[in-house]
Amino acid sequence: MNWREQTGAVIPPVFLTSTFEYGNAGGFDYTRSGNPNFRNLQQTLAALEGCQHACVFASGVSAITAVVSSLKSGDVVVLEENVYGCTYRLFARVFEKFGVSAVYTDLSNPVNYAKISEHKPALVWIESPTNPMLKVLDIAAISEVARKVNAPVIVDNTFASSYLQQPVKLGATLSLLSTTKYSNGHSDVLGGAVCTDSAEWQEKMIFAQKALGLQPSPFDSWLIARGVKTEALRMERHGSNALTFAERLENTKAVRWVRYPFLPSHPQHELAKQQMRNGSGIVTADLGFTLEKTQAFLGRLKYFPKAESLGGIESLCCHPASMTHASVPREAREAVGITDGVVRFSVGIEHIDDLWRDIEEAMTAA
Ligand SMILES: *Cc1c(COP(=O)(O)O)cnc(C)c1O
Repeated sequence: MNWREQTGAVIPPVFLTSTFEYGNAGGFDYTRSGNPNFRNLQQTLAALEGCQHACVFASGVSAITAVVSSLKSGDVVVLEENVYGCTYRLFARVFEKFGVSAVYTDLSNPVNYAKISEHKPALVWIESPTNPMLKVLDIAAISEVARKVNAPVIVDNTFASSYLQQPVKLGATLSLLSTTKYSNGHSDVLGGAVCTDSAEWQEKMIFAQKALGLQPSPFDSWLIARGVKTEALRMERHGSNALTFAERLENTKAVRWVRYPFLPSHPQHELAKQQMRNGSGIVTADLGFTLEKTQAFLGRLKYFPKAESLGGIESLCCHPASMTHASVPREAREAVGITDGVVRFSVGIEHIDDLWRDIEEAMTAA
């Protein structure tokens, strides 16, 4: 049945079915390998990313697993040294056991593009902006270098969002999303996706979705399809809030530095403007406080609960030294700039004056 013609429902229903009658017009058979709610979300995400295909997964980590599972023993992957922590852990603790080796380098520095030509990797894995230092990598330039040695480039596009950056259009083969973050935007569901123009890669992703059991639930897909409708509006507000927030922080005494790609003080500001429509909602700063003072400050915030994750309409903050990077030894953490006073803010869509008053009051109290 065509649900729209026969019911007039404006919004697609949730297809809570595990199986489909053989020979149906949609070509569905079993929800592990496809469902109308997956297909609906896949079409929307592909359109947002400006590419042909998208494949949805249960989480961002499932999407990463799907891509890496397409490699074979002996393959080498060259990765940006600042990739998402769970990406690093998956390679180190799981895929290295299967003979896939990972080479890390700072791909924000063009000198290190040589690693790509040297290793001729099966995959080049980058992220831009990076977490939590918001380094910006030149997606077009890296894709150009990789093309010469036939290495596909995958960009983890989670921090930028599909609305602000379209990696496949910039020359990457794959764009990966944790749809948990800006795509859904409401911090109430986990999801992931891999987007591409390559029919061959799409086939590999659909295979991984069913063969590894990485598929999302129809209901979660429905929720993300609902969230994604406001992605453009949310990203505009995240961006304008975050820029004002970053500017005000930069003009605050004691604050050592503020990192935000759309601040002129960002080392890759020009590149950010070339490849991104706007800045997203993430701002990282060194408040210049000791560990105790930073924790006192964070404890006083009312609008910024201390929590991992990002990209929801509500603001959050994260203290890398005691949270995401707590297991990294102090010297290693400080070598990449994560001192005790560093805080990553996920600026939400609240009124900027409410957010800023909260920061000022907590600063005074601390
Ligand atoms: C959150 C995140 C992931 C993992 O996504 P989950 O949905 O939590 O599994 C991957 N990459 C980046 C950059 C992320 O922020």
